Amino acid sequence: MHIYVPNIYQKSIFKIDYKKLKKKGIKYLIFDLDNTIALVDEKKTPKKTKALFDKLKTDFIVLIISNNTKKRVKEYSDQLEVPFISMAMKPLTKGLIQIKKKYQCQKEEMCMIGDQIMTDVLSGNLYKIDTVLVDPLGKKDLKITALNRWIENKVLKQLKKKKLFEKGKYYD
Ligand SMILES: [Mg+2]
Repeated sequence: MHIYVPNIYQKSIFKIDYKKLKKKGIKYLIFDLDNTIALVDEKKTPKKTKALFDKLKTDFIVLIISNNTKKRVKEYSDQLEVPFISMAMKPLTKGLIQIKKKYQCQKEEMCMIGDQIMTDVLSGNLYKIDTVLVDPLGKKDLKITALNRWIENKVLKQLKKKKLFEKGKYYD
């Protein structure tokens, strides 16, 4: 698997086949926050999102790893009642290492889900766990993401050229 290519690509977190992930042996769903679960300026969790997480929590251990500040990540994670790691510095894998250590789990049981290739997918692939890419929820990105998106666009062009990955062509 190419380092920038996710194992699964879906339009949103609502479209992911979680049953399939469970069947495969995934026990830990590790979500990015901004533009994966929440719009960047969204403070209150929509009911639909809360309902999805409540359901997921019956089958998985659900966590959030974000590069954003503790204030932002705590505020949102608390509403979903899931543990979180903030200031994770993805694509560094320190957050994933922390989770593996804390829960004493296997890499085969972990899955990273996010909207950015340069942070979420890359960190998961570097750590050699399953990765799911989703399209960003909103058009607006965090300022800090602008550079990553610029690089991501270059990477996407290369991946498309090599027929390795194409935006909008979803797969499980
Ligand atoms: Mg994100």
